[in-house]
Amino acid sequence: MADQPLIGVLALQGDVREHAAALESGGARTTAVRRPAELDAVDGLVIPGGESTTMSRLLETFELLEPLRARLAGGMPAYGSCAGMILLADKVLDGRPDQRQLGGIDMVVRRNAFGRQVDSFETDLDLAGVDGGPAHAVFIRAPWVEAVGPAVEVLAAVPDTEAAGAAAGRIVAVRQGAVLATAFHPELTGDSRVHRLFVDVVLGRA
Ligand code: GLN
Repeated sequence: MADQPLIGVLALQGDVREHAAALESGGARTTAVRRPAELDAVDGLVIPGGESTTMSRLLETFELLEPLRARLAGGMPAYGSCAGMILLADKVLDGRPDQRQLGGIDMVVRRNAFGRQVDSFETDLDLAGVDGGPAHAVFIRAPWVEAVGPAVEVLAAVPDTEAAGAAAGRIVAVRQGAVLATAFHPELTGDSRVHRLFVDVVLGRA
């Protein structure tokens, strides 16, 4: 792996190119992952946004669900944004009954939590472990985190302001060991600091 890890971007749905570009600007090599053999080759994996119910179905169709669960259980670093966060949660509220979880983070997320009021929401967030000031966060029919277990580090919560409405104070970025998740989409803002943090996690530096 040396200093340039190979990070896969799960390429069943979502902002695959944007994630790859952000990872590359953070110093990683990247590759699209659609098959188990491609998954075997990577040092870490990004799971983009999209629709978690569809991604769950595609993971089964592409015979990736069990291999991915096995790699996560084996300690592979992973970063999930939005639908990716939902897939990495041990428990989902407002999911579909047939939707499957990868798990990996001891948390309960509520699907489409922001979308109950408005489809998208933007705010500036302070992110633990990320220097250089607040990050602009874009939420698109995003989940939020309702509860976390003791092993989970909270990296960010929505500021507790009136403008944030029901989202005020909600947890939206977490880390458990080498697995990160954000409810927002940093790949859309040209700010690659979350991806850099993930590259450092893959390298064992963070
Ligand atoms: N609402 C989507 C889901 O349930 C997530 C939205 C997103 O990834 N932008 O999976």
